Amino acid sequence: MNRSPQPLPDITPGTLLLLEANDWSYGRDLTPGTSVAIAVTGIRDLLYRSDEWIWVLGHRPECEYPNVDRHSPCMEVRAKIAALHRQVAAS
Ligand SMILES: [Zn+2]
Repeated sequence: MNRSPQPLPDITPGTLLLLEANDWSYGRDLTPGTSVAIAVTGIRDLLYRSDEWIWVLGHRPECEYPNVDRHSPCMEVRAKIAALHRQVAAS
């Protein structure tokens, strides 16, 4: 296998991503089948990541970050890379 992975979208930290129920598969403390909003702080680019999914790290929109003391991301969600591209292109 030597195809190169799909390039990742360039997401500016602080971007609010809105993920439909179909756009994500897993999340810490999230309810499957609902839409999710996350203020992105970064993505976890694993060496052997999947072509389709990526872990996105960030904060809940209602979290006061960055107006409160910095804290590690309070949200992690495994999102479809295609959905990220769509949102970045739309913004
Ligand atoms: Zn937070």
